[in-house]
Amino acid sequence: MVEISSSTKSSTPRKHIIVLGAGVIGLTTALKLTARAEYDVLLLSEILPGDPKSIRYTSQWAGAHHVYSQQDVSTKHHKLEEVTFEYMWKLSEPGTDAEECFLRVPQTEYFFDSAAESSPLRSMPDFKHIPEQSLVPGAKSGVTFTTVTIDTPIYLNYLYSHFLAKGGKVLRASVQHIHQVIEGGARIFAGGSLLGSAADPPDAVINCTGIGARFLGGVEDKTVYPVRGQTVLVRAPWVRFGRTIYKDETGALTYIIPRRSSDVIVGGTRVANDWFPKPRPETTEDILKRGLELCPELAPPEVRAERTPTLDDILPHVVGEGCGLRPAREGGVRLETEWTEGIGQRGMVPIIHNYGHGGSGFQSSWGSANVALELLEEALTQV
Ligand SMILES: Cc1cc2nc3c(=O)[nH]c(=O)nc-3n(C[C@H](O)[C@H](O)[C@H](O)COP(=O)(O)OP(=O)(O)OC[C@H]3O[C@@H](n4cnc5c(N)ncnc54)[C@H](O)[C@@H]3O)c2cc1C
Repeated sequence: MVEISSSTKSSTPRKHIIVLGAGVIGLTTALKLTARAEYDVLLLSEILPGDPKSIRYTSQWAGAHHVYSQQDVSTKHHKLEEVTFEYMWKLSEPGTDAEECFLRVPQTEYFFDSAAESSPLRSMPDFKHIPEQSLVPGAKSGVTFTTVTIDTPIYLNYLYSHFLAKGGKVLRASVQHIHQVIEGGARIFAGGSLLGSAADPPDAVINCTGIGARFLGGVEDKTVYPVRGQTVLVRAPWVRFGRTIYKDETGALTYIIPRRSSDVIVGGTRVANDWFPKPRPETTEDILKRGLELCPELAPPEVRAERTPTLDDILPHVVGEGCGLRPAREGGVRLETEWTEGIGQRGMVPIIHNYGHGGSGFQSSWGSANVALELLEEALTQV
């Protein structure tokens, strides 16, 4: 694994930190913390990597790729994505133990609104503009560059196993109110007492509950809302490039994300406040139609050698479909410290919030973990 910077051992007592939530945000943050000798880290979560897929755990459903959000490079969010790209680029280097989680691919993005051809992408490796005559019909502009795709189930397990290997502890629990954890630590949950001192009330809690932040007592952030995304998984090892077409005026977003495993995520949809937890069959068909139009290469090469492929040529290669709820938030990601009353003589306890990553949780995960760690360090100097 690429080394995470580690501080020297400190003589002060270790601080006990609970990370709430084991999606990509909680796992990355928890792993980042284990590189610091001064912290004991406990991951507390209702759903863990490797569990059956659930609408309450978005990370399992993501594509995913790193393609910068259409934001100005001066924004805080862009910085989160920039730091994450640098980190993932290193993780995906041939020869690292994370290599299997990633695929480096040539990526093409077509825009129907020329203003959408945003500057962040210019910093990507091998960036080029597509000549006008080579654009797909209706597109006003397009760019190509190299990026990484992430095989999300494998990557989540990679983060999880490294967290455990570095001494992190885990407990499965569903938390109703954040004060349950602040007052009782992990001891109050089934199996918690087996964790010994790791189950004590924490010195700080890092809240990485994604869409759960809308419902978690003591947080109940009603500015968090779902942006539902539906996808289809096609086994097509011959596809080794990514492609996206933005048609934002219609709400349609079609993308092709190949994973190293040979599966290709074909998407998608982006519908705010749609909570429906299962794939809709008519949407699956629509996604496949749009996917084939954008990427005829989804069909096997032997078919394309003979004729123009149709939907029937792809259907035998469909291996799954699914949908997830991107944890969007009005105002963007919440990365800030809140202080809450500790019970008894404990004084105030910091809660570091790290949620609301919408459609970019993977590509902003390492940047967000860095900021969460900075906030934690700053808060712990005040207790
Ligand atoms: C179709 C689709 C495609 C996407 N593509 C991309 C992409 O290409 N690139 C990208 O960067 N992002 C992509 N995303 C977005 C990305 O998946 C999310 O931003 C990310 O998964 C959010 O992670 P999270 O850790 O915040 O939330 P989650 O993964 O939902 O994790 C939340 C965790 O908190 C736990 N939890 C919640 N409430 C409680 C509670 N009360 N008690 C205990 N535990 C609790 C849950 O069990 C879970 O473990 C995509 C999303 C979808 C749906």
